Amino acid sequence: MIIDRTSHPTKRQVMAYQKTEHYHEKVTEGLIANYKNALELLGEDPDREGLQKTPERMAKAMQFLTQGYQQDATAILNSAKFREDISEMIIVKDIEIYSMCEHHMLPFYGKAHVAYIPNGYITGLSKIARVVDVFARRLQVQERLTTQIRDAIKETLQPQGVAVVIEASHLCMMMRGVQKQNSVTTTSAFWGEFEKMETRSEFTKLISSSLH
Ligand SMILES: [Zn+2]
Repeated sequence: MIIDRTSHPTKRQVMAYQKTEHYHEKVTEGLIANYKNALELLGEDPDREGLQKTPERMAKAMQFLTQGYQQDATAILNSAKFREDISEMIIVKDIEIYSMCEHHMLPFYGKAHVAYIPNGYITGLSKIARVVDVFARRLQVQERLTTQIRDAIKETLQPQGVAVVIEASHLCMMMRGVQKQNSVTTTSAFWGEFEKMETRSEFTKLISSSLH
């Protein structure tokens, strides 16, 4: 795969609100050539009618699915960071996640549940969901995705505690390999107050209606 890193915008140019529906020309061209080649290697004819635009679609889809590399979770959280004296647990449940495993580049998908206990600052609830997307739209392992979400919230809001639970199905397990169709992988990352049994079980109870 050819990716021209230098043609990417610098960190400072990246807006927190940038939604990549525009594509870098050089990256797209490089990906198209490589996907065309890959189709040939797999025994396909990339020039047949149904496949003519496939390399281009793949190039754009993959840029969309990895747009998290161009986004900044800290900027998103800071864009809606408000001073607020509450110390109740705030939970955002059932955030849909779609990511790709870095080992097979096949999707894994499921739900994330995120909670934090503020320590002077809160953020917009939609921003929590956006932070999940920032890290999900990269090549990932579920364990790292979980801790990256926790750490971004921890470092930006400096709350009393953060908890992240993700449950996901991995197509690389379902379509190939062990072919475990119904297995769901659950990962969790806790920090601060949530390291205490009591707080953690309150959180678990509150999200358990959606846990398997
Ligand atoms: Zn995999």
